Parts: sequence; structure tokens; C-alpha cells
Amino acid sequence: AAKAAGRDRYALFDPAMYAEILREADDRAELERALADEEFVVHYQPIVDLPTSRLIGVEALVRWQHPVRGLVGPNAFIPLAESTGLIVPLGRWVLRQACQQLAQWCAEFPESAGRIRMNVNLSARQFQHEGLVEEVGQILAETGIDPHQMVLEITESLLMQDTDSTIETLGRLKSLGVRLAIDDFGTGYSSLSYLKRFPVDILKIDRSFVDGIDTENGDATLAEAVVQLGRALQLQTVAEGIETQEQWSTLQDLGCEFGQGYLFAKPGAAEAISSILGGARSE
Ligand code: C2E
Ligand code: MG
Ligand code: MG
Ligand code: MG
Repeated sequence: AAKAAGRDRYALFDPAMYAEILREADDRAELERALADEEFVVHYQPIVDLPTSRLIGVEALVRWQHPVRGLVGPNAFIPLAESTGLIVPLGRWVLRQACQQLAQWCAEFPESAGRIRMNVNLSARQFQHEGLVEEVGQILAETGIDPHQMVLEITESLLMQDTDSTIETLGRLKSLGVRLAIDDFGTGYSSLSYLKRFPVDILKIDRSFVDGIDTENGDATLAEAVVQLGRALQLQTVAEGIETQEQWSTLQDLGCEFGQGYLFAKPGAAEAISSILGGARSE
């Protein structure tokens, strides 16, 4: 027993583990500092109507404008933001930023911007945060945007937790007038009955299905199944990660309504969207 205890003791001082803990504390402090210094920027990626490729909305995607490392993508810091809880203030900042941007576009280009939607990602941690619904309501009120123009993207795994409080929070968000989308749809295991129970409006077909749509036999079938599921439940479908003309036309053949991907535009600074909105005005 003494020997085992000794070993356990030793494990507490495992230098690799200790270094890891220090690194995490460092990263956390760095992320906190970046938030205080407002080093984050929001980029926007167009979402288009597939038949016409007209802009119907944008997705807000956060980036870290790091003083040394340059522009850092969300996959490099969102997981840490989630595990440390910093995603709550960061997510609130993104939401406010995106709503302010939409309000500005609506003031500048009322005709075209009045019709677009702003999609914002919500992580599970944010969703579980007590004050979420009040915060969304407050940001909508302070920016004055039409709640119907706001789409909150949530993940399938969040829905699969399927608790009364999940359903309640979704319902309260819907009561604000916002729309809800399931992001990366198809990567989880939600069943028809799950989907029916939640007040969602939009399914975003995960990029992994779009990737192999013209090459791997299964994928077109899966993408088609998702589109049909959407139709049966009267949900809109958005295909993510469209990179080729072939994927674009296959998705149209399958009856997918909307799309997003490098073929149309990569995420970029707000100005790129402003020029689309400004151009649309003269039509
Ligand atoms: P997501 O919400 O599924 O966003 C779509 C991701 O696919 C974006 O990556 C986008 O740049 C990328 N993408 C779009 N079209 C294409 C394409 O044609 N080809 C390829 N290869 N990729 C494409 P990004 O910006 O790196 O974001 C990654 C993920 O980080 C997002 O996935 C989302 O889950 C998360 N994220 C980004 N911003 C936020 C945020 O403000 N809050 C939260 N909670 N998560 C965020
Ligand atoms: Mg998303
Ligand atoms: Mg996605
Ligand atoms: Mg994703």
C-alpha cells in the first residue's frame, strides 16, 4: 500500500503533466488578455440561394488577430475557450459584434441588407450558460435588428443531450423571434424523433457529405437523405463547404435550397460583404 501511495504521489509531480498544466494556464491567460484587448475579429462568409447564387445571409466566424502569430483560426482556440468557460464572454462579444454589423449594413443598404440573415455559432457551453436568453434579447434590443434576421447555429450533440432544460432554452430563444439551425448536421446521430421535438428551422449539411458527393457513392445518397428529411420536417437546408461546380449542381439536383463554400466566397472581412450589398442596390 505504501508503495502504491508512493507511486500515486510521484504521479502528482509528473513533470510532463506539470508542464501541460502550466501551458494551459498560460494559454488561458493569453486568451483572457486577448479578450480584454479586443484582439478578436469577426469574418463573414456568404450563404447563397443555390439556383441563383444570390446572397441570402452570412455566417459570422471568429478569428484571433494575434500580435505575433497573425490571424489565427477558431479551431486553434475555440476548444480552449470552451474548456475554460471563456467562450461565454467571447461568444457574447461575437454575437454583439455580428448584430452591430448587421445593423450597420441595414442602415447603409436597407434594400439588400434588410433581407439577409446573420448566422452566429453557439457552443454547448454558451447554451448552458444561465444568462444566454437574456443576453441575446438584450443584444437584439440594443442593436435594433429584426430578430427574424438572426440565426443561431447549434450542434447536433447539444440536442442529443435532450434534457428538459435544452428544450426550454430553445423555446425561449424562439420566443425572441430568432431562428435556429443545426450545424454540421449528419455528424451526430440524431433521429427523426429528436428532430421533431426541437423547434429548429434550418439544417446545415456537414461539409464531409458535400466533400465526396460526386466521387464517393454513399455521400450523394446521404446528402439526399438529409435534404429529404429537411423537406419532410419543413426545414430549410444549407449545404456547407461547396468547393466545385459539380457539387453545386448535384446539390441543386437533390433539391438543396441554400449553400455556403469557397466556390462562392471564403470568409472575409465585413467590407467584402458591404460591396456585395452595395452592388445589389443598383440592380
Ligand atoms: P462551422 O460553424 O461549421 O463553420 C464552417 C467552417 O467551414 C468555417 O471554418 C469555414 O471557414 C469553413 N468553410 C466554409 N466553406 C468551406 C469550403 O468550401 N471548404 C472548406 N474546406 N472549409 C470551408 P472556420 O472559420 O475555421 O471555423 C471552424 C469552426 O469554428 C466553425 O465551424 C465553428 O464550429 C467554430 N466557430 C467559428 N466561429 C465561432 C464562434 O464565434 N463561436 C463558436 N462557438 N464557434 C465558432
Ligand atoms: Mg456554423
Ligand atoms: Mg458547420
Ligand atoms: Mg464545423
